[in-house]
Amino acid sequence: MPRRDPNRVWELVDRYRALADRFPHFGVCELGLVERFGQRFPILAGTYGTGPKRVIILAGTHGDEIAGPLALCEFWERESGHGLAEQFQFAFLPLINPHGYARGIRGNGVVDLNRHFDRPRSQPENDIALGYLRRRRAELLVSLHEDVTSRCFYMYESGVRDRRLFSRIIADDTALLDALESDGFAVCAGDHVDGNYNRSGLVVSNPGAGRARRSGALEPTLMRLGTIRRVVGFETPGLQPLADRIGQQQQALRHVLRSFLV
Ligand SMILES: [Zn+2]
Repeated sequence: MPRRDPNRVWELVDRYRALADRFPHFGVCELGLVERFGQRFPILAGTYGTGPKRVIILAGTHGDEIAGPLALCEFWERESGHGLAEQFQFAFLPLINPHGYARGIRGNGVVDLNRHFDRPRSQPENDIALGYLRRRRAELLVSLHEDVTSRCFYMYESGVRDRRLFSRIIADDTALLDALESDGFAVCAGDHVDGNYNRSGLVVSNPGAGRARRSGALEPTLMRLGTIRRVVGFETPGLQPLADRIGQQQQALRHVLRSFLV
């Protein structure tokens, strides 16, 4: 049974407010309020840094994938003030689906939000998130997800068209997967994950493909809008301990950001 705990949401909100108080150039705002089941939660947006590299980070689209929101918040608490703000300009949505997060369920109690981003005015969470993101431009989008039925880590890479850049990025992603494995974490070895070809934990997907476009997911929707060029998605294994998944999300995020600086 999912654990229902509205305090989970308020704990994260409080931690973000504390971050905004503590670090210059760290901003947090409420994009809007969503009321469901007699409970009202804010949809938060954050910004950090004034550097040249623009990155969007998304977490908490699926409420039962809790490692992403927890890892991202801890990432800012650990890493802010150590040069990130000078190198990057981050915009992030740390908890797109607060009702799902509070209830420990994938959707918001009505639908799977990540199948409805192509339908305007379907869900208030989606309208709020898209309304914010469509005004932003970024070279890189990092999306923190979990595969709640998986025992192994895998990641998505999509959107890079330039062949030289693509081969460097694939080498960087491979180095990340190697590093996770040498830290003792399982990386998915099967031929397919979620209907896509899997190459030892790396799934190269085409966001322009009909399947992705029809999925109603946020990432291909943003790509179609021209807001972002490259999407990296992490899928931590929901069947492994939470602390390991949080560690993997942070390691993967640090790695991808470092490689994006080169
Ligand atoms: Zn997900």
